[in-house]
Formats: sequence, structure tokens, C-alpha cells
Amino acid sequence: MLRFYNTLSSKLEEFQPLQAGRVRMYTCGPTVYDHAHIGNFRTFVFQDILRRTLRLRGFELTHVMNITDVDDKIIRKANDAGVSIQEIACKYEEALFVDSDLLSLERPGKVVRATEHIPEMIQLVARLAEKGYTYSSEGSLYFRIGKFPRYGQLAKLDMKGIRPGARIEADTYEKADPRDFAVWKASKPDEPVWEAPFGAGRPGWHIECSAMSMKYLGESFDIHTGGTDLVFPHHTNEIAQSEAATGKPFVRFWLHAEFLIVEGEKMSKSLGNFYTLRDLLAKGHKPSAIRYLLASVPYRRQLNFTFDGLHQAAQSVERLRNFQLRLRTEKFPDGHSEALRERAERARQEFDAGLDDDLNTAVALAAVFNLVRDANTAMDRGEFRRGDAPAVEALLGRFDGIFSVLADDDREKVKDIQLAFGVSLNRWADSVEVQVSDARVEALLAERRQARASRDFARSDQIRQELANGGIIVEDTRDGVRWKRK
Ligand code: AMP
Ligand code: ZN
Repeated sequence: MLRFYNTLSSKLEEFQPLQAGRVRMYTCGPTVYDHAHIGNFRTFVFQDILRRTLRLRGFELTHVMNITDVDDKIIRKANDAGVSIQEIACKYEEALFVDSDLLSLERPGKVVRATEHIPEMIQLVARLAEKGYTYSSEGSLYFRIGKFPRYGQLAKLDMKGIRPGARIEADTYEKADPRDFAVWKASKPDEPVWEAPFGAGRPGWHIECSAMSMKYLGESFDIHTGGTDLVFPHHTNEIAQSEAATGKPFVRFWLHAEFLIVEGEKMSKSLGNFYTLRDLLAKGHKPSAIRYLLASVPYRRQLNFTFDGLHQAAQSVERLRNFQLRLRTEKFPDGHSEALRERAERARQEFDAGLDDDLNTAVALAAVFNLVRDANTAMDRGEFRRGDAPAVEALLGRFDGIFSVLADDDREKVKDIQLAFGVSLNRWADSVEVQVSDARVEALLAERRQARASRDFARSDQIRQELANGGIIVEDTRDGVRWKRK
């Protein structure tokens, strides 16, 4: 039974979509004014695990993600650089998808840009205005929170403490009530502007997600996600606008990822304590290790980013890849053992139970590593049979359908982006040269076998040394030669 923690109810709830068999899900995508940092990717990796788990559970998925391509930060950057906001937005949207591919993030079925949905936003604002939920002030339109009694449920706001009627300035726009927020912002010099019946201007950030999610997913849909900083005010305001306009419940399940932190503080652009994916690649870290690290801590727990943690993540990936290689290349005796088949089945159940429990990736990973340990022990003892391999291989496949780190393609991926974007990742450029490919290892080992058969031990030692220089450890076992990367 699949269960998620719903921020709206503050409870773990059994998940069922509104329409049997199909899940409709919306995720708040990035504001494209700079490279995403790995804190952002923590949230995107969580969303990827969520997508993959829903599909593993047999649901069809309609997944929409927005790109915020007009906002204060983009406008400021474009004005500073003397280019259009489209130029800035395009550049960083492209970078986002390159980074997403490196991290093996599946693309949402539909990616929608705010600037391409202005008519839908204007329509929604008009609908709110018609129902009396808005008022205008100095050319901007504000949502009147006092008219929406359920305001703040998601964030568990205590509205009693906030005094209505106080006139304060926020966002440099005048508001009648501090709790009110802009759904349409009056045009200002040096800002992009769209014509609307209620005056020229641009949409507020929150209206963007209400308009686009409802256009593609309907007025009520199943899941809405983002990082925990979006609970208030963004998602709180989305609920108010959408439900005020339609009179229907907007979203069933709200799922929020906790922050990735560095030394106790949220990783963020404004604090300057951030790494982009490219920063980490330039230091020689592998995309698979970064993905593994981001996926390994369950999404509702804060993830404390350290380089030590990243090294451990790389080792975990390596261990799994080596195990898979062993499983595929070692010659096992014929037959099968009932005990191992049961062991693999138990691992599958534990793996699934972990994911079902609000995507507890730590439990799911433990299930896999425990099986790997037991299978390795059985192999070392000569108890592992050829007929045991498929069940273990199937569990690895199931694991990789969610975690997606087993393909040994880090070098190729990084080489590709270097070629495509001329990004200078010097550490990688070096390691790409000296790294010995799997095919090269196999060829050298075959040659070594021959050398030994013809008692040419000098050549055999030379090959072992060459492999060692490339970080390959060769072990001669009773059942043949085994190798792994250091
Ligand atoms: P933004 O581009 O700032 O709108 O952020 C895109 C997504 O990343 C949102 O869902 C944010 O909640 C999320 N996010 C931002 N900073 C962090 C962080 N340090 N850890 C986890 N998620 C984050
Ligand atoms: Zn949003």
C-alpha cells in the first residue's frame, strides 16, 4: 500500500488517484535566471523518485512542470546584461535540462513556460475579479485574503495574529492588507508588459502555477510537489486562488522535500553557500555519485551535504556496479538454491515496502545492500548457483529502475557535455584519458590468461601492473579471475 505524507493533513495517507489508474501531478519547476544548485536538484531527484515509484506501482502518469521564465531576478539580470529576458531564460533552461540528463532525471511529460500562458493567467485573474476576490491598487491587482476563510491551512498559519487593515508596503506595491498578494503587477519601466482588461502589467508568480496546473491537469488533481520553502506563501496562495475561482478542492496530496543544507544552513544562491552540478563535476565527482547521494536520504529529512558523504555515495555505487559485474561474469556451478531465491524475494519485498512508506529510500537501499552482502558471501563460499542469478539480477533491475545509477556511463556523459558546451572540466578531461574502459580491461585480462598459459610470467606481471596503474584490482580466485575498480 503506497502511502505519502500529505502536508495538507499533516498525516501519512494511503495514496489513491482521483481517477483510477492515472495520476495527475504538478511540480513547481525552477526560476531560470542562473544554474540550478544541488539543493534544487535534491528536490528534483525526489520528484524523479516519486515519478518512478508511481509507475512501478502501475499508475499512468500525467506530469507537468513549469518553468518560471519571467520574474524579478530574471528581469534584473537581463537588464544588467542588456539582453532580453528570453535570452536569459533560454540559456538557463537549456542548462537545466543538460544537468537533469546528467543526473538521470526523467523529463516530466509536459514542461510549460509561464510566458507562453499569459492568456490563461489573465483569464483566471478575470474570474477571481468577477467573484470579488480581487481589488486594484496603483494599477496592480491583489487577492483579498479576508474573503477566503480557509486561507493558510496548508502552512498551518495562525491568522489571528495578523492584523487586517494595516497598510504596509511589500514587493514595492501598495496593499490594503499585509496578507494580500499580487495576482497581477502593474507595468513598470524596463519590465516586460502584457495587455490585460484590468491594465497593462505582468502576472504574479503564484497565479502562474494555478493557471498552468489547472489547464493541463483539471481543476482538481492528485499531487503537487516542491521544496518545503514553497509551502508558504507560494502553495498557500495557489490554493487560495484556485479554490476561490473554481469552488473545488484544488489538490489532494501536497508533498514537500526538506532542504539540502550545508553546515546547518539551507543551500541557496542568496547565502552564497551553493554548488552547481558543474562545480562538483569540475572537482572530479561523478554524476552517478551525486544522484545517489541526493536520493539516499529520504526526502522529508534534511540532507546535510558533505564531501565525505559524496565519497561514500561514490563507493556505494561502485560496490553495486562491481557486484553486478561479478554476477554477470563469474562462472557459477549449475543448479539453484531455494534459500537464495527466497532471500532475493525477501529483498524485493523490503525494497518495495521502503518505497511504499512515503518513499523511504534509506530502507529500500538497505534491502539491496543486505542482499548484495549475502549473495557475495554465498559466492565466496561457492554456494551461489547459476540458477540463482536471474532473481538477484531482477532485484538489481528493480532497484535501478528507481535509483538509476548502475550504468557505467559517467565518463561518456561528462565527455558529452564538455563537447556540447565547451565546459571546462579539467579534472575529468584528465581522468577520461587515463581511465581504462571495461572492454580494455577484459582484453588485457584475456591476454594475461594467454601469457600465463604459455608461462610468460613477465608479460603477465606487466599487464597486472598496467591495470593497477589504471586503478583496476585483479584477484585470482579458485573460480577464475575477478577484477574491480579501486
Ligand atoms: P527555485 O528555482 O528557487 O524556485 O527552486 C526550485 C526548487 O528547488 C523549488 O522546489 C525549491 O523549493 C527547491 N529548493 C531550493 N533550495 C533548496 C534546497 N537548499 N534544498 C532543497 N530544495 C531546494
Ligand atoms: Zn509553483
